[in-house]
This record gives sequence, C-alpha cells and structure tokens, in this order.
Amino acid sequence: MKKHNFNAGPSILPREVIENTAQAILDFNGSGLSLMEISHRAKDFQPVVDEAVALFKELLNIPDGYSVLFLGGGASLEFCMVPYNFLEKKAAYLNTGAWAKKAMKEAKAFGDVVEVASSADANYTFIPKGYEVPADVDYFHITTNNTIYGTELHADPDVNVPLVADMSSDIFSRPIDVSKYICIYGGAQKNLAPAGVTFVIVKNDAVGKVSRHIPTMLNYQTHIEKGSMFNTPPVVPIYAALQTLRWLKAQGGVEEMQRRAKLRSDMLYAEIDRNKMFRGTVTAPEDRSYMNICFVMADEYKELEADFLKFATEKGMVGVKGHRSVGGFRASCYNALPVESVQALIDCMQEFEKTH
Ligand SMILES: *Cc1c(COP(=O)(O)O)cnc(C)c1O
Repeated sequence: MKKHNFNAGPSILPREVIENTAQAILDFNGSGLSLMEISHRAKDFQPVVDEAVALFKELLNIPDGYSVLFLGGGASLEFCMVPYNFLEKKAAYLNTGAWAKKAMKEAKAFGDVVEVASSADANYTFIPKGYEVPADVDYFHITTNNTIYGTELHADPDVNVPLVADMSSDIFSRPIDVSKYICIYGGAQKNLAPAGVTFVIVKNDAVGKVSRHIPTMLNYQTHIEKGSMFNTPPVVPIYAALQTLRWLKAQGGVEEMQRRAKLRSDMLYAEIDRNKMFRGTVTAPEDRSYMNICFVMADEYKELEADFLKFATEKGMVGVKGHRSVGGFRASCYNALPVESVQALIDCMQEFEKTH
C-alpha cells in the first residue's frame, strides 16, 4: 500500500534525494568509497559544501555579507548560540509555542529577555499581533512556524531592530527578506535533510560585538572563518541537503514551494472547515500554518478520535496523530509532500464522515 508521509520531523524528503544519497553512501562520485568513509577534507567533498552554500544563497536571495553554516547540535543548540553571540544587554522574544519558549529560556542566562507578546494562555492557537518591540534590544527573536501548534508567520515582521528567526519547519517554503535578519537557523530534519545538520544564515558584521568570552565551538566567528570545517561537519546530512537544494531549484524554487504549500493547505483546511466531524484548532486564517495542519474531532464526535486514527492509518496515512500538547491530528505538509497525499487524507475524512 502507498504510504502518505505526514510525519512532523524527521519527515518526508523527495524520493530522488533519498536515492542519490543512498547511491553516494554506496559509492561516492565513482571513487569506490562510501560517502561515510571519506574525509570531510577530501577534495571531492569541499565542492558539496560549496554548492550547498551557493544554492542556499541563490534560492533565498541572500544578500552579500552573510554566511551560510552547516553545524551540529540542532535548532536547540542555536537557542543558546544566538544569545551567546548576539545578546549584550537585552533581547525581545515572541512567545508563540514550546520551541519559542525554550529559546527564551536559554536567552535568560545571558541578559534581560522581554517577552513582547504570548499566546500561551490560548494554548498557542494564534500569533499575537499589535505588540511593541522595545527599540533598545539587541535583537527580536521569532519562530516563523510553530510546528506543534500549526501557526505560522507568513511574512517577515516590520520592526526597527534586527531579527533572529527559528525557521526549522518552514525554511524554503516561501521567499524571505533575509536583509531584515542577523540570523536565521533551523534543524534540517523538517524540510531539508535527515537529522544531524543545522543550517545557520548569519550576518557577518553582526558577529563579534558582545563583550563576553564565547567558547570556540559556540562562536559563529569560528564557523564563518572555517567555512563550517572547524571540526568534522555532518557529511552525510550535508550531502542530502545538497540533493534537496538541487531538487528545490529544479522544481522552481521558493516561489513554487509557496504556491504548492498554499494549494495543499487550502485544500485541507477547506475540508476541515466543511466536514462536520472535524474542527481546526487554529481559526484565524492568516495564522494557519501551511506546513503543519492541526485539527481535532468536533465535540460531538470526540469519542471517535482513536477510530479515525485507525481508519486513516489503515488507508496508508503515516504520522497524522497530533502532538500530545494539542491532541487530535496534525498533518505535516512539507515541501516534498505531493498534493496527492493531501487528497488521500481528504478522501479518508470524507469516507469516515459517510460511514458515521
Ligand atoms: C523541531 C523544531 C526544533 C527542534 O529542533 P532540533 O533540531 O531537534 O533541536 C526547534 N524549533 C522548531 C520550530 C522545530 O520545529
């Protein structure tokens, strides 16, 4: 049976990315050696990093003066590296979910943290608006897509301070105005590559301004200077990321990804809103994520939650169980997810409705 992969992360990758990476694991560039058994300093590997960096810059239209880094540690380590490198006195954070809150918690060890707004009281079902960002903060941190709750900031905010963003789960799903940011980071395992590599887009001249001593490995300057080769980078995930970047370019880039994401999510939200058995947890259309679509059983059908999950699983849906802090269902619709998979889930919902 065909499986439809709605996993929240690690998650679906284009088939050719997996095949090309599998091939390189067996034989890298006809060298007779596996990608897993060559040095990251081998002459054949440097072009992989160089092309991945170049494609990042091209696809996201990154201006001059920025570096693209491939690091270890996940987005979670960036929660600490960001304040280590950029927080001198005070930073502002928008509290839109569990990841945002974790980022904020790390920052508190380095200086004053202003929570400019929060939707915690409403279990993060909306993106706060109309907040003020103090003019004297070192940066304003946002989480552009809230993977767990299914809310998303669909545009780069207009503020008068430098932005920092966790884009773990919506990178390459829309054009970004990178010039508004001093740092954009994310774990690769949602929209780019298998787990193990973290991407960081950092503005070179924003680094090196804080007065504290920064440990070598946690200092962005180290990785900027060494082109992500200060120590052994995650070779296999970087290779896979390059395959995804090539795929993205061949498909038409981020504008095309945004078009597909909108198409997929419009289809699924329309069904959630139409079908009497289900209810979307995020109601404001402008806050609804294109990437992670959260819904629950309508109140009068609450007891059928396990039945629907079983029904959908039998039809080949994978990963549609909601996060424990929201319950219900979550369909993660990342860049590589074909529209046919969304249609298959909609068919499931309609068939389930007919039989009840
Ligand atoms: C998954 C996720 C993280 C955590 O990423 P790790 O790479 O596992 O540390 C952080 N932020 C967001 C928005 C995520 O979706």
